Amino acid sequence: MRFVDTRGNLPKGVSFTKAVLDGLAPGGGLFVPESVPALSLQQICDLADLSYAQRAAQVYRAFRIDLDDALVDELCARAYGDNFDDERIVPLVKVEDGIHVIELWHGPTSAFKDMALQCLPLFFTASAQRQASDGRNAGRRFILVATSGDTGKAALAGFANVEGVDVGVLYPDGGVSDIQFKQMATQTGDNVAVWGVSGNFDDCQTGAKAVFADADFARQLENRHGVSLSSANSINWGRLMPQIVYYLSAYAQMVREGTIAPGDPVDVCVPTGNFGNILAAYYAKTMGAPLRLLMCASNENRVLCDFINTGLYDISNRPFVKTPTPSMDILVSSNLERQLFELTDRDPAAIASWMSDLRENRAFRVDRDTFTRVREHFRADSVGNDECLDVIRSVHERCGYLLDPHTAVAYRVAERLRDPDVPVIVASTAHWAKFGDNVYRALHGMRSGEDLPADIASLTGCQLNALVAHEANASAVPAGLASLDDTPIRFTEVIEGATADIEQAISAYLSGKQV
Ligand SMILES: *Cc1c(COP(=O)(O)O)cnc(C)c1O
Repeated sequence: MRFVDTRGNLPKGVSFTKAVLDGLAPGGGLFVPESVPALSLQQICDLADLSYAQRAAQVYRAFRIDLDDALVDELCARAYGDNFDDERIVPLVKVEDGIHVIELWHGPTSAFKDMALQCLPLFFTASAQRQASDGRNAGRRFILVATSGDTGKAALAGFANVEGVDVGVLYPDGGVSDIQFKQMATQTGDNVAVWGVSGNFDDCQTGAKAVFADADFARQLENRHGVSLSSANSINWGRLMPQIVYYLSAYAQMVREGTIAPGDPVDVCVPTGNFGNILAAYYAKTMGAPLRLLMCASNENRVLCDFINTGLYDISNRPFVKTPTPSMDILVSSNLERQLFELTDRDPAAIASWMSDLRENRAFRVDRDTFTRVREHFRADSVGNDECLDVIRSVHERCGYLLDPHTAVAYRVAERLRDPDVPVIVASTAHWAKFGDNVYRALHGMRSGEDLPADIASLTGCQLNALVAHEANASAVPAGLASLDDTPIRFTEVIEGATADIEQAISAYLSGKQV
């Protein structure tokens, strides 16, 4: 299988291992497989006989990637083993009649980013070894990640102690929660670095992009340290592919449990930001899973919801709103480009022209045929900040199940858009204890953004979570989150966000390692 790019610069395509190592295609396009493999209904249902790791390996095999089957088996077993706190890896939970939740947060950082970032680093290293055995450059890589919270920790946990790789994370100083800060600052491993940046998430991202674009710095890293820079953000195909697995797996599981008969339709509802998770559902559908509607759930930053309902993607006059769901706060949703490529029957000229409209006019509108295709597969709705907290409280009261704010957004959209005759799978993307302050507000009937009472505000994130778990009669907070107050902080350095400051920090880190 070759991987081609959405802007048509690599008509012959590249191998899987090269697509994983490069991340982005020359010219800014994203890699997609030259064709999407099909599984029969029987093959999909048979996944239920396998462990989750074996299900993943089966899906990887279907894509005929350029790594040996035995190696793929081994990497999947390592990615989805006892690093997860539930042996089912992705439990499927019926919350109420017709609404089933897939819990994507049983990995080490309690967020769904683990589904991809426990897997990608292993495939990244294997890809580097594969390329080296073919005589291509296989020097060390430095993975630079800018994060608003979840991705940084998941990348650190995934790449820690992985051979041939160092990982450095930039987060906005003062802009992440106590839990998120401690998750990153306590990260162990001798190949990791974490820097706070004075400024907001945009400053971190702009800084990181400028470092990637600096050819002189790249040469300097290569000459002095034998290191090249890489990115692990969600445009990497190696992060997308692991996400296809859990939709196929959930369908097989529902058949196995007798919830549906083989071939019966199921809807999917996904809390969406960068469009990676819902795009994976689209690929699962294309591969043959009888998924009917893909529901895109937005928060108050509803650019995707508006696009799916109108065909116009418009950020020209759209303020960026703060919400209780920071991982969905987004204006430019990068994986939408892959989705449009697929829905135009792979028309790179159309993609290139819409992306250029977006750059120049901050908006683009798709043609009528493409919009018809969008509506064939997708529905969308958005949920306000206060309503989001309301959902957490009402589902907890009604069903005794505690949702994180991101999942709550999807839950409400599923309730609104669903057909009573078709079960819906809601993607649950974080454990509630990653966002304990807003869950506290929800359970106490407070509004989004309202100040917590002084005695609550003075608690650490761990203490607040323990209180919420007790009040809500919820099961224990995952160990990785519950132990943060007692784990030594390793990283406290705060740097300025200018290109030179970030480059200086990276150079100092690499020089320090060579002593
Ligand atoms: C990243 C993230 C999302 C958004 O997923 P996309 O693939 O970017 O659409 C939703 N919820 C949580 C908790 C996340 O971390």
